[in-house]
Amino acid sequence: MPPSIIPAAVAATRGAACAAWAPFHVALGPYQLAVEFRDKSQMHDKRKLACLNLEDGRIELRQDLQGMKLAEVFLDCIIRLSHFSKGCQQGCVEEAYTHSFATGMVEFAQRNPMAWLWFNLLLTEHGGRNARYDRVVHGAVSRPPRMPKRILVGGHPVTIRSITKAETGNAFGWYHFSNREAQLYSGLTGSNLAVVALHEITHAVHHMYDIKQRDKHQNFKHAQLKGWLGIMKDNPSAWRWLVWVISFPAKASLAPAAPEAA
Ligand SMILES: [Zn+2]
Repeated sequence: MPPSIIPAAVAATRGAACAAWAPFHVALGPYQLAVEFRDKSQMHDKRKLACLNLEDGRIELRQDLQGMKLAEVFLDCIIRLSHFSKGCQQGCVEEAYTHSFATGMVEFAQRNPMAWLWFNLLLTEHGGRNARYDRVVHGAVSRPPRMPKRILVGGHPVTIRSITKAETGNAFGWYHFSNREAQLYSGLTGSNLAVVALHEITHAVHHMYDIKQRDKHQNFKHAQLKGWLGIMKDNPSAWRWLVWVISFPAKASLAPAAPEAA
């Protein structure tokens, strides 16, 4: 079993009316926010399960959240903080929301290794597929996970294919709407591989959730939250690959690994 995802300080205060700090901050863009578990009566907005309280420098999570609901509410905070810190707001086009999500997730993971591990432990313990994402975050895998050829997005199959330089043209990747196919340049490496993979798959998420070129902020946020949480739950091998390329940019590559010397 993976280690407990509930820090001792938090577990000790479950049900009590005082706040408890998670043992990590979240740094994104210019912000560095404490993460606190709070009783409903202590939330900045008592109607909400989570508050992005930028004035007081903290993410407030309702103390009674657990399991996948806690993962969902936390991911929602990261998506909101990412768009806010990048100035992605209503009026921005679909491409801007796509890239804001992709770069925000990679930045979150790479600047916040404790929070990234905690989030993947939540998915491991409550996602129900015994996928051990925590081991991938630690690099404790016998071989790097492979890029998936097909994933389910919003219940629909989407293919993922690596393409040549000639097919790539002046971009790093494409999302082909009529084929429902995310295409990634085969020469992608480093953090750029993670960003481009998240970017093209996010186009697929927007497609499957019928998001328009110019849509409401709320609709982009909802599609990204539900779409990506669904990808994490329904496609454990795909999420393991993404966790790997996000966590280890120095090793990330689409090129097949060279055979080891005898
Ligand atoms: Zn794009």
